Amino acid sequence: MKKLYSLVIPLYNEEQVIHECIKRVTHVMTDKDFDYEVIFINDGSKDMTESIVKEYCLNDAHLKLISFSRNFGHQTAITAGMDNAKGDAVIVMDADLQDPPEVVLQLISKYEEGYDVVYAIRSKRKGETFFKKLTAKIFYRFLRNMCEVDIPIDTGDFRLISRQVCDVLKGLTERNRYVRGLVSWVGFKQTGIYYEREERFAGETKYPLKKMLKLSMDGITSFSTKPLKMTKWIGLVMAALGFIYALVIIIQKLAGIQMQTGWASTIVIILLIGGIQLIMLGITGEYIARIFDESKNRPLYIIKEKVNMDE
Ligand code: UDP
Ligand code: MG
Repeated sequence: MKKLYSLVIPLYNEEQVIHECIKRVTHVMTDKDFDYEVIFINDGSKDMTESIVKEYCLNDAHLKLISFSRNFGHQTAITAGMDNAKGDAVIVMDADLQDPPEVVLQLISKYEEGYDVVYAIRSKRKGETFFKKLTAKIFYRFLRNMCEVDIPIDTGDFRLISRQVCDVLKGLTERNRYVRGLVSWVGFKQTGIYYEREERFAGETKYPLKKMLKLSMDGITSFSTKPLKMTKWIGLVMAALGFIYALVIIIQKLAGIQMQTGWASTIVIILLIGGIQLIMLGITGEYIARIFDESKNRPLYIIKEKVNMDE
């Protein structure tokens, strides 16, 4: 029997790229010795994305659409795609053609060699700002040092996962998801291939700084408790410094050295310690907010409509 591959493609205001995306993906996937389905997830787009995809779905049963009731975010959209994919393997890619559809065939051939997870590592990133490239580079390395899970660097969500891995992921219902971390966490036989990340085909990035920060916080807090533990070490160092300074003052007093009275140094110390305390409180808050999110037990996403998908 022919294998079925599911492509999961999240869409948020992508009316400018959707035509080309469908064209390229269809071109790559047709007339092969496998079957395919493309699951688009409309993540609450405010433009014409939804109606354009629906139009395409009418004419091609390979194309499927899940529409969210609002914007739930990229990672949640991917999750919904995986939850609804029927394939023997599931491939996640961006709509903007930064992840070239042709690379999908390489992912598939690795899968056929027997790997459960094939992730695509960015050897080069074209057409992205210096700021984005630099922060991404630093973040991937920082995360790797912080966490206990072996998360590959310079790797986004562009990857293939086997049916078995997909089923395991479906059982992980945590909210503030960092999907690429979860995929690493589940284990199985994993490998990577290198590719050059293209320029966005059209339109602007749907990942402004705010969403990037949220994603990176999700990555760190989901896979490391080191920031929390760091608190006590910083507290300890500050206390030790305070103790040493107290000794210095006593010795100066005993030695009869005239002391300078200065409010400047006092203010600096108060600000410094106050600042550190607030930062630590903030870090604790990030974790508590996530515990709160989990405890509410709301569904991860709300589906408004499905097209071309049989229940
Ligand atoms: N995306 C989404 N929901 C969002 C933000 C982005 O579904 O809230 C989708 C977007 O349509 C694209 C993919 O996620 O298919 C990656 O986004 P983008 O290309 O803007 O990110 P970048 O490549 O700039 O990091
Ligand atoms: Mg992109």
